[in-house]
Amino acid sequence: MADAAVTIVGGGVVGLAIAAELSPHYSPLFLLERHAKYGTETSSRNSEVIHAGIYYPHGSLKAKLCVEGRDILYTLCEKHDISFRRITKIITATRKDDLAALESLYNHGRGNGVQLEMMSAQQVHALEPHINSVGGIFSPTTGIISAHGLMDFFYHSAKNNGAEIQTHCNVVGLEKRGSDFSITIEENETRTTFTSEIVINAAGLESDTVAALAGIDVDAAGYRLHHCKGSYFAIPNAKRNLVSHLVYPIPSKESLGVHALIDLGGRLKFGPDVEYLSERSYNYAVDESKRHAFAESVREILPSIEDDDLSPDYSGIRAKLQAPGEPVRDYIIRHEADRGLSGLINLIGIESPGLTASPAIAKYVYRILKT
Ligand SMILES: Cc1cc2nc3c(=O)[nH]c(=O)nc-3n(C[C@H](O)[C@H](O)[C@H](O)COP(=O)(O)OP(=O)(O)OC[C@H]3O[C@@H](n4cnc5c(N)ncnc54)[C@H](O)[C@@H]3O)c2cc1C
Repeated sequence: MADAAVTIVGGGVVGLAIAAELSPHYSPLFLLERHAKYGTETSSRNSEVIHAGIYYPHGSLKAKLCVEGRDILYTLCEKHDISFRRITKIITATRKDDLAALESLYNHGRGNGVQLEMMSAQQVHALEPHINSVGGIFSPTTGIISAHGLMDFFYHSAKNNGAEIQTHCNVVGLEKRGSDFSITIEENETRTTFTSEIVINAAGLESDTVAALAGIDVDAAGYRLHHCKGSYFAIPNAKRNLVSHLVYPIPSKESLGVHALIDLGGRLKFGPDVEYLSERSYNYAVDESKRHAFAESVREILPSIEDDDLSPDYSGIRAKLQAPGEPVRDYIIRHEADRGLSGLINLIGIESPGLTASPAIAKYVYRILKT
């Protein structure tokens, strides 16, 4: 008999949501996190937006799990007092040439089942008099949430159901042994090995590394991750009332574009930009030399912002399956039985909207395990 029924690698929002979902059904259930606290990587370094589900390819896991996760999040927030706000969002076209792209984005979002409204320039300016706009899309179901509040909720739900959540616990070995997995962990330079029937790899930026530990050739499988940093700059409080909704530009192929964010404390910030990293450095410092280029992107939306209004704020790193210039890839959420690894579920490339989708991802994983 294995030491654990289920072991989850990674204590970000996805691993925690899965622990909360599975813990009523599996015992013992372990969640292993390498840092001193859960949720200190990407899950606490993002825009904290509850995405409506507009952008993602029709029929993709990103689209389906975002829409499902968004609705679950609003219910959880209301029921369990997790901080959130239904702030809503405007996507603005800043040039006449962008109006066709705006309309196709509207049709695309509607195709994902998202409630949206087209807006004239006058309607945009009635809501946001200071922004640059020749027309827009209004998204009434976009909101903001406390990522820490959500993770605390998942953590306590899992703990109350008997899950054992271990921090300072780096998974360094994963091997199929008979019907179970042998897992080696490193805690303060001491290595220990135990067994688990099921392993769920929710290791975020290192989920490809963990898949490789299990013997998967990540290049052949298409699991290799590209780390892509996104930085934010903050706007001083004196100018924070210049916008009152989240305001996004027309997205590019690579990202949603630098957009205006208002956090739960009412602070206004812009970001994130797109910077593919050549090495895995986990350097979260925001490069001040980006200020001017950043301000140029901000002025596309909010022309009155000057370079000196921007101060470096924070950054996060995206776990992208696609290299620069490649087409967008969908989430990999896969039971690896056909690779001789029955009981291993890999979650790889869980970039945005992973925060929004997290409770739906957890339900999806539970459905995989039950079939
Ligand atoms: C700039 C930016 C903005 C974003 N904005 C939004 C947004 O507004 N809305 C939205 O829905 N999504 C957003 N996202 C996406 C969202 O943040 C992620 O999809 C989500 O946080 C991924 O969670 P995770 O649990 O998979 O990863 P993580 O939070 O990275 O958690 C993985 C955990 O695994 C641990 N780990 C790794 N290797 C090991 C190991 N060997 N042993 C033990 N532990 C290990 C890590 O320490 C980490 O804590 C954004 C992302 C970025 C980068």
